[in-house]
Amino acid sequence: MFPDQNRRIALISVAGDPAAEIGQEEAGGQNVYVRQVGEHLAKQGWIVDMYTRKSHADQPEIVQHSPTCRTIRVQAGPLEFRSRNELFEYLPEFVSSMEAFQRRESVSYSLVHTHYWLSSWVGMNLRQKYPLVQVHTYHSLGAVKYKAIAQMPTVAMQRLPVEKTCLETVDCVVATSPQEQAHMREYVSELGNVVIVPCGTDIQRFGNVSRQEARAQLGLDPDAKIALYVGRFDPRKGIETLVQAIAQSKLRDHENLQLIIGGGSRPGKSDGNERDRIEKIVHELGMQDMTSFPGRLDETNLHLYYAAADVSVVPSHYEPFGLVPIEAMASRTPVVASDVGGLQFTVVSEETGLLVPPKDVDAFAHAIDRILENDTWRAELGNNGRHRVETYFSWEGVTTQLGQLYDKLIQGNAKNLEQKETPQVAA
Ligand code: UDP
Repeated sequence: MFPDQNRRIALISVAGDPAAEIGQEEAGGQNVYVRQVGEHLAKQGWIVDMYTRKSHADQPEIVQHSPTCRTIRVQAGPLEFRSRNELFEYLPEFVSSMEAFQRRESVSYSLVHTHYWLSSWVGMNLRQKYPLVQVHTYHSLGAVKYKAIAQMPTVAMQRLPVEKTCLETVDCVVATSPQEQAHMREYVSELGNVVIVPCGTDIQRFGNVSRQEARAQLGLDPDAKIALYVGRFDPRKGIETLVQAIAQSKLRDHENLQLIIGGGSRPGKSDGNERDRIEKIVHELGMQDMTSFPGRLDETNLHLYYAAADVSVVPSHYEPFGLVPIEAMASRTPVVASDVGGLQFTVVSEETGLLVPPKDVDAFAHAIDRILENDTWRAELGNNGRHRVETYFSWEGVTTQLGQLYDKLIQGNAKNLEQKETPQVAA
């Protein structure tokens, strides 16, 4: 066993506050991941400080999640929301604010696990000054994301070289799916250690209520056929493909088909604009009566919506991992998802749901209909999904794998990590 100091670690998530409300602008999977990993590592004996950027004057500096797990908000740039693409220039201040906090509290860390490319820069900077192990998770790769868009944003000039240096120099990069690992190798670099440890979900919270009970609690028709979207309003999520697919579903005219689009948005912000655009499409297709927008789903109702749905649809154009499908599968709800990225890892087509080409409205409509038309098969897919999540994607299991990786790295035993670790999570 190590002395206690070795078990004190920092998770750094400059642009994904682990204590934030989830489900609206720029607060999604990364925030959930960092918070859950932090809290579960603390349960497994680690002392965890999670650093993020303070983005409002009235936010508390410290949020204590448990006796050994806290979020620490440090100043870096103005105390206002700034999009991720605007944060690079504030990173030196982030580093000095973190150092000032550590001096004040007399704490140091044996390891930092950084999240998203901005934080990788912070970790690499700290690692040059202190004897630190650095583990990194990208959450999204600029090198992949920019391939799908017509014009490279200016931030690409900063992001792409940082992503490459990170992969080539940090102690270990965690890919959350074999697809993400392959993308790193193909588009970023052949050098550096990559280990696969997937994202997780809360298997106690999701799957703890029956469909009937969930519908009763939400006031939904017990006999309706319900398709559900959960996620942020972001064009990359492909919500319009789902709306168009439901519009042409065979079931539209003779079953009580309903579409629920769950996610937060704020008027005038990018997510508010995307929601307006989606609502306009709903109107144009004459689907107002069958479509509802319950807003941001939270700890009181998210698990109920997943359980109430007959099918959960994830029409993303690109998804490095995607927590939504594993939350749905944990709730025994089959998933129809785009055949891209991490969705190819989490969803097993014909076993836990169906994978279809992204943006292909006909294919989404056909896949959704196949599931909604066959209750027995739907239940079978749902049970298979639950089994898959219990086997591979519980936070407890994921965090145990991360803890074992940290232990090895802290002990200086990092040789051949990539070859040794990868088979652990092979599907
Ligand atoms: N989410 C939520 N409430 C909402 C919409 C989304 O809690 O109204 C959560 C969702 O349950 C999931 C996360 O936000 O845990 C989204 O993560 P995912 O990896 O699917 O997508 P990202 O937002 O990272 O692109």
